[in-house]
Amino acid sequence: MPAIFTEEYPEAKASFSLEISRVLYSEKSPFQKIEILESPFFGKVLVIDDCIMLTEKDEFIYHEMIAHVPLYVHPHPTRVLVIGGGDGGTIREILKHREVDQVVLVDIDKMVSEVCLKYLPKISSQLLSNKVTCLFQDGVHYVKETTEIFDLIIIDSTDPIGVGEGLFTREFYTDCHRILADDGLLINQAESPLYTRKWLMQLSQKLAQVFSHIFFYQANIPTYPSGYWLFGFATKKYHPLRNFNQEKYDKKKLSLKYYNQGIHNAAFVLPNFVREIIHAE
Ligand code: SAM
Repeated sequence: MPAIFTEEYPEAKASFSLEISRVLYSEKSPFQKIEILESPFFGKVLVIDDCIMLTEKDEFIYHEMIAHVPLYVHPHPTRVLVIGGGDGGTIREILKHREVDQVVLVDIDKMVSEVCLKYLPKISSQLLSNKVTCLFQDGVHYVKETTEIFDLIIIDSTDPIGVGEGLFTREFYTDCHRILADDGLLINQAESPLYTRKWLMQLSQKLAQVFSHIFFYQANIPTYPSGYWLFGFATKKYHPLRNFNQEKYDKKKLSLKYYNQGIHNAAFVLPNFVREIIHAE
């Protein structure tokens, strides 16, 4: 009998299972349980508190979409803040944009980065870039205290439960708004509209209380609950489509596996049931 890992989706009374050949790592940090599993089909899998964070098979979809959408809109992003994202996948994509001079990564759990550097070097190795400063502390505390100003903030967090809860509050978004430049952008992973409708609704209401313009875009990520995922795009100035930077896109010619200009435009076209959730008062 092959070993099976199952992630439960209690909200949907459903689950997702994959065959695993080995458990490469399983330890509890002071914050959460961290595991690296090996699957014959999905490759290595990072699991935190029994939830899949990434698999080698499909991580490119999430990481390309969370990073390149804002980076092809903002005309001159030089300073980027990543909250969460200790696996380094988002950093890897950000650093494909050479105009980014400095990235501050704030993850509450140093062990996530250490484990990913050991077991998932292709995803995490850019954490060691000299453009990147890694701070291991609570992102909520960091944005409250810092006096630095950023062009882009990416919130690459776990779900709004446990240590990640504070990253989904109005107070946190207010602090992010304060430390964003006048033309800054904030992107966050916004959960599944199918399985965790309430989380998306609350997140969109709170973001809208702080930012005058918010948008959402979508991606299909097979190993996340329901396989259908949203990202929030909160902006002080730039429109996600009208300000798509054609010149930058044509010049860079990045070789990416998921993101392209067509995907950028199409991702902001949302189904009616999602539009209802994000516009609900
Ligand atoms: N792509 C993933 C997903 O949506 O499933 C997120 C991956 S990333 C590993 C999430 C990171 O958020 C974890 O490393 C966790 O330690 C970090 N995190 C959770 N709460 C945090 C907080 N309050 N401050 C900073 N980082 C936090």
